Amino acid sequence: MATPTIARTRAELVAARGGSSVSFVPTMGALHDGHVQLLKHARPLGETLVASIFVNPTQFAPGEDFEAYPRTFDPDLERCAEAGVDVVFAPTVPTMYPTGLDATVTVDPGPLGSILEGAVRPTHFRGVLTVVAKLFGLVRPDVAVFGEKDYQQLTLIRHTASELAQGIDIVGCPTVREADGLAMSSRNRFLSAAERQQAAAISAALRAGVAAGPAGSSAVLAAAGAVLDAADITPDYLVLTDPDLGAATPGTEARLLVAARVGTPRLLDNTALRLGA
Ligand code: AMP
Repeated sequence: MATPTIARTRAELVAARGGSSVSFVPTMGALHDGHVQLLKHARPLGETLVASIFVNPTQFAPGEDFEAYPRTFDPDLERCAEAGVDVVFAPTVPTMYPTGLDATVTVDPGPLGSILEGAVRPTHFRGVLTVVAKLFGLVRPDVAVFGEKDYQQLTLIRHTASELAQGIDIVGCPTVREADGLAMSSRNRFLSAAERQQAAAISAALRAGVAAGPAGSSAVLAAAGAVLDAADITPDYLVLTDPDLGAATPGTEARLLVAARVGTPRLLDNTALRLGA
């Protein structure tokens, strides 16, 4: 098992990246099996596999958990090595934001960035899309892999890549879950034992929604809502959309998305489902 090259600066990255085709998995570290799945998926998509580890300050609002976000570089490096990563790009904040955090040129997420997560975290997606654009500019990948777990993020990254002609294939990967269905997340470690049990209701609600799919939209939302209610979880949102986050249409593929705070962490999850006519 080869140890990945660690690049901390642009120059180190350029040297380590080489001239071959590149697949890329951006992360904020605290790697779990969900991230490893993305790395394994990305491995055969390019000759060189680059993973980035960067906790991006601009996607956290004041008062959010930027400082408390878990940072576990040594175990992360081990997981990257196991997954066949060639280069770990782990820049400092000044490398990513050489003119400071209030740089004036940013990526505007457009209307999709102000619904759902964007309604709760109004500056979040501007921060995400801006850092992803910077990472794309530095790493210059041919293909980049993101998780469906953050479905609105994946959708916005697809739109940005296409509308800004970034020239990078965006590939989505299914959500990796714990045995009881909870979507893996770096923030799950902040759940107490009781909250951890309660949190299983989030994915159970999605499964109930999928089962109610043939009966139509209202039945889906009622079935999923009832599971959350029974677990005493009040979601920030529980919505049914089409696969591109527009209005859901009967008789077609849809997406059911949920976000809820359980204790301190906010947990996100979503699933594909088919709606009855
Ligand atoms: P993060 O480090 O949380 O910013 O996530 C980095 C990438 O991993 C993003 O593309 C996430 O959507 C993806 N990811 C996070 N959790 C999971 C999961 N449980 N299954 C699949 N992908 C995930």
